[in-house]
Amino acid sequence: MNGTSLGGMVTELDALYGQIETAQAAWKLASPFRCADGCGTCCIDFEPDVLPVEAAYLAVWMLGFQRERAVALATGTFESPRSDPGRGCPFFDPGNAHHCTVYGGRALICRLFGYTGDRGKDGEPRWKPCKFLPVEGNDGSAPRRRQYSGAELLERFGAIPPLMSDLSARVVSIDPVNSHLRRPLREAVADAIRHALLMERFSSPPEPNTPAPDTPAPLAS
Ligand code: SF4
Repeated sequence: MNGTSLGGMVTELDALYGQIETAQAAWKLASPFRCADGCGTCCIDFEPDVLPVEAAYLAVWMLGFQRERAVALATGTFESPRSDPGRGCPFFDPGNAHHCTVYGGRALICRLFGYTGDRGKDGEPRWKPCKFLPVEGNDGSAPRRRQYSGAELLERFGAIPPLMSDLSARVVSIDPVNSHLRRPLREAVADAIRHALLMERFSSPPEPNTPAPDTPAPLAS
């Protein structure tokens, strides 16, 4: 996929994911809120709808780090680690302490859970802790499960988390032509893997002595 326009888009998305991590790290340092270790509750009944570029990113990641699983997904033989694979994300593993089995390649929304705010109708930043966050902040303070305005966040924590709507718009801007093609993760990634495998096949140099595709086969004598 290197050198292709899709490759360029995946690289662009990779840079954006890096920026999200940096912004979230700053928010985590500034605020007292942390997801509980090994929570994963937000993935149990949830399968994200993703854009083609997000699917391509996960496809490339799986082909690099979990090739057998990727091929199984593309050929319809993938087995989800969960006993109820139709229920939520097929990559969620209830038996794994970290739960997400494709963490490095996960989609945008999966990166935003817990540590991202949004904008209200007035366009101002706001943030509400996830309903699964521990009721006590990591500084031992009282429950704060309510919505905070941007001004309050700045006053109390001196920081505002990255904002979901802004980040979603940036992902859409990587490949605006296909921004209407959101599909459930499992379908979109299976197609993206098939596409990546096809591109891999046609970008590899042919084996020595392989006839060129337009060379007629010799006639039998
Ligand atoms: S890809 Fe990972 S983080 Fe995203 S919904 Fe599935 S299990 Fe959760």
